[in-house]
Amino acid sequence: MRLLIMDQDPANHDAYQRSFRILSGDVDPEDCLDGEALSGEEPGVDLVSLECVFHVVGDSAVEEVQRSVVTDSPFAVAFVGVSADLDVKEWVGRIRELDPSINLVLVANDRRLSPPELQTLAGPPDKIFYLVGPTESAEIVQITRALSRRWEIDRELAAARTALSLQVAALEQHVAELATNEGRARHLASYDTLTDAPNRLAFLRALGERGRQPGMFAVAALDLDRFKLINDSLGHLAGDEVIRQTCRTLRSVIPEGGMVARLAGDEFGLLFDAAGDEAAAMVCERMVVATGASMRVLGHKVQVSASAGVVVAPESGARDPVDLMRQADLALNDAKRSGRNLARLFEPRMDEGIRVRRAVESGLGRAIARGELTMLFQPIVANGSYEIVGFEALMRWYTDEFGPISPGTFIPIAEETDLIHELGDWALIQSLEAAKGWPEQYVSVNFSPRQFRRQNFVGNIVERVQRAGIDPQRLQIEITETAIFDDAERAADTLYKLRQMGFRVVLDDFGTGYSSLDNLRKFALDGLKIERSFIDGLERERESAAIVRSIVQLGRALSLEVIAEGVETRGQVALLRAAGASHLQGFLFSHPIGANDAQALANAGFVDRPGGLVGSMADEVA
Ligand code: C2E
Ligand code: CA
Ligand code: CA
Repeated sequence: MRLLIMDQDPANHDAYQRSFRILSGDVDPEDCLDGEALSGEEPGVDLVSLECVFHVVGDSAVEEVQRSVVTDSPFAVAFVGVSADLDVKEWVGRIRELDPSINLVLVANDRRLSPPELQTLAGPPDKIFYLVGPTESAEIVQITRALSRRWEIDRELAAARTALSLQVAALEQHVAELATNEGRARHLASYDTLTDAPNRLAFLRALGERGRQPGMFAVAALDLDRFKLINDSLGHLAGDEVIRQTCRTLRSVIPEGGMVARLAGDEFGLLFDAAGDEAAAMVCERMVVATGASMRVLGHKVQVSASAGVVVAPESGARDPVDLMRQADLALNDAKRSGRNLARLFEPRMDEGIRVRRAVESGLGRAIARGELTMLFQPIVANGSYEIVGFEALMRWYTDEFGPISPGTFIPIAEETDLIHELGDWALIQSLEAAKGWPEQYVSVNFSPRQFRRQNFVGNIVERVQRAGIDPQRLQIEITETAIFDDAERAADTLYKLRQMGFRVVLDDFGTGYSSLDNLRKFALDGLKIERSFIDGLERERESAAIVRSIVQLGRALSLEVIAEGVETRGQVALLRAAGASHLQGFLFSHPIGANDAQALANAGFVDRPGGLVGSMADEVA
């Protein structure tokens, strides 16, 4: 604790000294002055560490205060002796200016200084005091004790206030940081990082909000076709770039006020106002066309296409975001199934389809165990001689709940899950088992694209054929163009291996896909099966007849067998003979029949001349 005394009269200094000695405990107060004043009730301030600085000249006292401030060793109290010839006013003014917390005690012999005047100079009032001389030790001791204590408390308070304001500042900064982080987190929670478009969550939220407003609006799901192919062949960076560019394109064509969101992978959600189905479908078609342009991605020219499904939320009623999304998705699936690169409007039947589908899916899983599956066999005959060269194996599923279910329905469903492998393995085993008893005919087994792409597709077949003890020549593998052209290089490799091992391979449903002559030449094949609908149209449409003729010519040019399936009339047979198809298959010769009937037919080796039908519809349901 430091005290400053400015008094012109050195004799007075002694009086101060004495007082302070009492304070410091050097002198017994009893020996000195009236003990009452000094026996302070509260010791409080540590007066033992008192440091007193004396000055006789005002200016040097002021300088002392300045030093104390600079060195951060401030005075608690300054006693300033006042006499007529001194410029006290100026000093106290300067001292106060230098140190706002110093307690000023003016010691005068009379009241020549008016308090208001001093206050304006050296205020505030609670830091300025008057002692009317002559000063006594008791007074000095008392006032020093009181002011020192107060000064210390003030200082502690000031320190606490500074600490507090620092804490507040830190807290404020913390809060500000939290706010930015929260903002960022909120952005991340609602926006996709790749495209910066709203994500699924934000999209559903927007749908909900839009649903509460009046007016019709459309919800669409748009998905890139065969995006996986881009990702696999050009890498994920290219895939990302395709997504980004697609998002930009969509944003540029979406009607004003609409929203483009990235829902997942290569799937986008669109929300826009639409007056009705037609308007919504038109917008979606425009979106599909816009995304269908070719783009440059990391130096590659990439051709992308997209499919879309759209549903219009009615003026009133079903406007639940999740329902709308599901319906848009159903329409999208329908678009994908119908050949991609197009937009589809949602229709209620799609919802119905989904219900059947679920039932089929769950039933199919138990079909084998319950013995609900059978294999039927339909002969394939040489054109002209009607010698049976093989049988196509066709699966049948009969359930107590639904009756017979067509493979046209359940195979595509199984194909979307791993169930197809279980069914396929079962079909292959049954088919080989049946063929074992035939004199020489092959069994022609259908494999769906997913089966064809399965790991170890070839190995699995080899194993089953070996286990059945059958010559590979007697297994014909039917695959569709889709299975091949999704990944032509791998397919070519697989087909080559199969042919090397002696298996027969034919391309099923030929004429509907994208096969080019070039592609066909690359693949090791034994034959083509002309898509049934062309045979069906043979006698009615000039176009079908032309297609059939050119497929036959193509097959011959490539030294391939050409099998016409779905042959039902003699007229068709005549036309097919003229065209030069090598083999025929259809109801005209035989319906698909059970293993026993097939065995008998195989033993006979021939079907009756067209007209005499073998088998019946009864087998179909058997
Ligand atoms: P697909 O491979 O094109 O099989 C030929 C289809 O034509 C069979 O239909 C057959 O019953 C039918 N068909 C045969 N002759 C005639 C005819 O003269 N007229 C008409 N209108 N149709 C005829 P199905 O048995 O209903 O099979 C439908 C599809 O299901 C098959 O088409 C095939 O893609 C698939 N499938 C059937 N069995 C299997 C199987 O075991 N595995 C796999 N992966 N797919 C199978
Ligand atoms: Ca087939
Ligand atoms: Ca076919």
